[in-house]
Amino acid sequence: NDQKRKQLIDGLELLTKFYHYLLTTAKYGSPGMHYLENRGFNAEMIKQFRMGYAINSWDAVTHLLQKRGVNLEQLERVGLIAKRGFDNKYFDRFRNRIIFPIFNMRGQTVAFGGRTLGDDKPKYLNTPESEIFHKGNILYGYHLARQSIRKKSQAVLLEGYVDVIRAHQAGVTCSVASMGTSLTEAQAAALTRMADTIIICYDSDTAGIEASFRAAEMLQGNGKIIKIANMPEGLDPDDYIRKFGGERFKSDVIGASQTLMTFKMAYLRRKRNLSDEGDRLLYIEDVLRELTKLDRAVERDHYLRLLSEEFSISLESLKKQQYQMYTRVQ
Ligand code: ATP
Ligand code: MN
Ligand code: MN
Ligand code: MN
Repeated sequence: NDQKRKQLIDGLELLTKFYHYLLTTAKYGSPGMHYLENRGFNAEMIKQFRMGYAINSWDAVTHLLQKRGVNLEQLERVGLIAKRGFDNKYFDRFRNRIIFPIFNMRGQTVAFGGRTLGDDKPKYLNTPESEIFHKGNILYGYHLARQSIRKKSQAVLLEGYVDVIRAHQAGVTCSVASMGTSLTEAQAAALTRMADTIIICYDSDTAGIEASFRAAEMLQGNGKIIKIANMPEGLDPDDYIRKFGGERFKSDVIGASQTLMTFKMAYLRRKRNLSDEGDRLLYIEDVLRELTKLDRAVERDHYLRLLSEEFSISLESLKKQQYQMYTRVQ
């Protein structure tokens, strides 16, 4: 079994090198290289993240693997190549796509994500889950971010491959991605093991914002500081850095990230019209309800005080109302 695992890892390493070779060789790689240059990725990132290009061919990879005597059946089982129904011939899974090797915590390639150069669907094609690839156990970019995370005791959590690469290029090297918006318990545990502060910076769309709440709630506890970064509606970290630059990303996004509660209060506030008395009361109730979820009394007190000051309501009546709401839901 260890033997089989090693064979697989070796096959994936060979493919990583091959895709990277294709990308960086003018004769084959120019469509992919143009794409990456247009998006503003530099050569150092292409090398560090071992990006590659799958040429527009049905059998380039299969052919190479065959030539090297790699066990094709095994690679089919983990979804690296596929098999045609009518003549049982193997063919390449990725064609005309940018290849992002997905590394395990030790930096070995265990899967690939492939992005189209254009608008065809799906935008990303991933190799499926397999005996060596459990997506939920992996943080993309971890092995390149680990040192920086440890040193600062801070990690930045993003959604996508390109967000991580762009953040690293901008010098935010403590960035990793959950590869989509659903953070798993295993990913959360890996993050909280290494850092005291975790800053969530998912895409600024409805899916991303709601996922940030869920992620923050998962990461909370154990005395960790969990923050959420705020970006203009519709942008993701890659878009933001492209538009405003890395320095502003550091100061205005990462540097200005807020605690879950402050972020939530701002979010709840946007849903209400605070100049309306009825809405104001509803907002206060929204906040009180959220405050009951906090496990630290000092923290609850801090926000109660803010509410009390902002709306000129005594702390006592806020606490009383919160107590009533709390006992009602019990
Ligand atoms: P780009 O900027 O190139 O459009 P993105 O990272 O902004 O890419 P999103 O749609 O925001 O793309 O997706 C974020 C992440 O979610 C991706 O990097 C990928 O890890 C994961 N993902 C998205 N779509 C898929 C898919 N169809 N299959 C597997 N993973 C996906
Ligand atoms: Mn998204
Ligand atoms: Mn995105
Ligand atoms: Mn993007």
